[in-house]
Amino acid sequence: MYTANEKRYGEMKYNRCGKSGLKLSALSLGMWHNFGSFDDYGNMVKMATAAFDLGITHFDLANNYGPVPGSAEENMGKMLKNEFAPYRDELIISTKAGYTMWDGPYGDHGSRKYLIASLDQSLKRMGLDYVDIFYHHRPDKETPMEETAMALYDIVRSGKALYVGISNYSPEETQKMSGILKSLNTPVLIHQVRYNMLERTPENGLWSVLEQEGIGSIAFCPLAQGLLTNKYLHGIPANSRAAGSSKFLTSDRITPGLVEKVGKLNDIAINRGQTLAQMAVLWNLRDTLTTCLIGASRPEQIIENVNALKNSAFTADELKAIDEILA
Ligand code: NDP
Repeated sequence: MYTANEKRYGEMKYNRCGKSGLKLSALSLGMWHNFGSFDDYGNMVKMATAAFDLGITHFDLANNYGPVPGSAEENMGKMLKNEFAPYRDELIISTKAGYTMWDGPYGDHGSRKYLIASLDQSLKRMGLDYVDIFYHHRPDKETPMEETAMALYDIVRSGKALYVGISNYSPEETQKMSGILKSLNTPVLIHQVRYNMLERTPENGLWSVLEQEGIGSIAFCPLAQGLLTNKYLHGIPANSRAAGSSKFLTSDRITPGLVEKVGKLNDIAINRGQTLAQMAVLWNLRDTLTTCLIGASRPEQIIENVNALKNSAFTADELKAIDEILA
């Protein structure tokens, strides 16, 4: 049985999530890749315990993470039982439903039928009585938002989740969902959205809605799945996501134009005395983001990424130079 590092809360920063009572570690660990059926369980344990030892308290899942769908939750359940049993109250575990999970009309989207059944399945796979955050994973234009909101409200009332979140909602959808859930006294805790130096859409309206509504923010793919690191500067390494079987990062994304820009970003990172991965994490956290949701394929990456917090804030010139490279 693993014993956690006694100094784990010494270095990490904890940010208040919107206007809630909950604080989240500035970095969170996501289990979308490398925690599935075909991955090495020993490596998962090393990554999860390395993260916790560094003060990461928040672990993010979804019903469909794997492959096979559901297997990341099963592996998390194994780790919760074998490694983290004494630490449940020090952990924030999230899961989601909203994408296709099972066959037929009830295993997808945003109906009450789907969300409640899916969370029951997730809890079973993880061996938990409750998750800390349950998300609606993506907006559903066909289900009335009131129905999705009522399902989230009832889930919180039933004690199966402590807080609710939304993901991939537009600013308008976020505003509407926030209003409905506020009227039910179950405010949206957090919004999970793709945000990194290459993907800045949330700056066009979402951040201001979150601020106005008092909702926290968690950025997924902060390293653009590894593109915002130095690993693809000289080709595609064999042990990288782009070389593997993930359909979410294929080698054709790594164009000469992108490599040129990333090379210039890498020069800025070197001048700052950090790696590009570290600079990408710190850039994510430079403003009002609650937490940066990293992924990893090995524990060393988590250690490197958490160490980003030791570096100084950006100068206005550095931020301008980054913007100019990516313009
Ligand atoms: P990142 O952008 O952080 O990419 C992680 C990948 O980058 C790693 O698996 C690794 O890939 C590489 N990497 C990480 N650190 C380093 C480093 N220091 N040096 C070199 N390479 C590094 O995030 P993910 O794309 O993994 O997404 C993170 C989480 O976001 C997911 O696990 C999930 O929880 C959440 N998410 C949510 C979505 C939603 O719709 N709500 C959608 C997508 C993700 P490699 O294999 O190449 O080593």
